Amino acid sequence: MKIALVYKNDPSLVVDRISEPWRLKDAYRNSSASQHLLQCIYEKQQHLLCHCNPTPALMFVRYARERYTLVNHPVSGQHSQNCPLYSDIKGSIEHGVGADTIKESETGFERFVYHLKSSEGQSSSRIFSGDTKGIMKTSATA
Ligand SMILES: [Zn+2]
Repeated sequence: MKIALVYKNDPSLVVDRISEPWRLKDAYRNSSASQHLLQCIYEKQQHLLCHCNPTPALMFVRYARERYTLVNHPVSGQHSQNCPLYSDIKGSIEHGVGADTIKESETGFERFVYHLKSSEGQSSSRIFSGDTKGIMKTSATA
């Protein structure tokens, strides 16, 4: 497993390499070391590229239900079938473009928003810039 950290806004710029990529596997993901690693990636707003395919698979970190998980991008997250991080991806995004809109369809979305509000969320809140009105509406009707 060769996994690179890249800038969210420019995946062609490699920031670093994950030194212990096995920590990203499902079996290890709930360990505190893995959660810490995912949290760092999340807070730096970085994405990950797995080089199991000639076209690297794009992944990002999502925070839901009080834990961090690694998500394969629904379009660009195609891993090689024998890659430990392989999963079926949809191949399309249902509405909007980019990873930010995907979060809205998650059931953990509202909780995720509350977390941002309660814990300052300086860097995290930038993710939602422009989406704030929709979020407020969603929260009010719940
Ligand atoms: Zn892979």
